[in-house]
Amino acid sequence: MTTLALAVAATIKHDGHGGVADLLSTPEAAAAWLAEHEQLVAHVLGSDLGRFVHPNRAEIFPNTGDELVQIRRAVRALFARAVAPGAPSKADAGRLMDVEDALRMVNRAADELGTTHLEWAEAPVLRWAHRTEDPVALLIGAVGRSVIDFLAGPDRARLRACPAARCVKYFLQDDPRQTWCSPACGNRERVNRHYRRRTAG
Ligand SMILES: [Zn+2]
Repeated sequence: MTTLALAVAATIKHDGHGGVADLLSTPEAAAAWLAEHEQLVAHVLGSDLGRFVHPNRAEIFPNTGDELVQIRRAVRALFARAVAPGAPSKADAGRLMDVEDALRMVNRAADELGTTHLEWAEAPVLRWAHRTEDPVALLIGAVGRSVIDFLAGPDRARLRACPAARCVKYFLQDDPRQTWCSPACGNRERVNRHYRRRTAG
């Protein structure tokens, strides 16, 4: 299962025509992306998803896209530092946010989630005691928390930037021989290399 942090990083993707597509480029696109990834947010916020899933989601979205784009810059800057040296994704390697700024941003975002408290009515349950009621701050906070848990956890060692020519994806390596993010990238690269060999010879 993927995590919210990886899903946010993956909102920049190769568009199939040599360019880069941004899944958060408009408020509508950001809302659609979020609708698809609600479960990942719920995984971080636990039982408090109800507070975040606003009945008029469209109304809260004019700004959410911008805030997601901001924290995505932090996520990708930290991912670029986490992958093997010299191998960040080419998509934004030249314009990465400063790592200290990125750390500040994800830590501050996660702070908004507050802490967890134990409640005990019928059975003991953990509940977030948030510092805010703002659904956007909670969403961005969930992204921050997800990045922190991912980078401080065991999966960080499996983070890779796909080296395919036009791919911009970060992915989790499933086994040590996996080079590409997907079979499609592997096939495309094999074809490219074959073509280069033929034209060179
Ligand atoms: Zn790829």
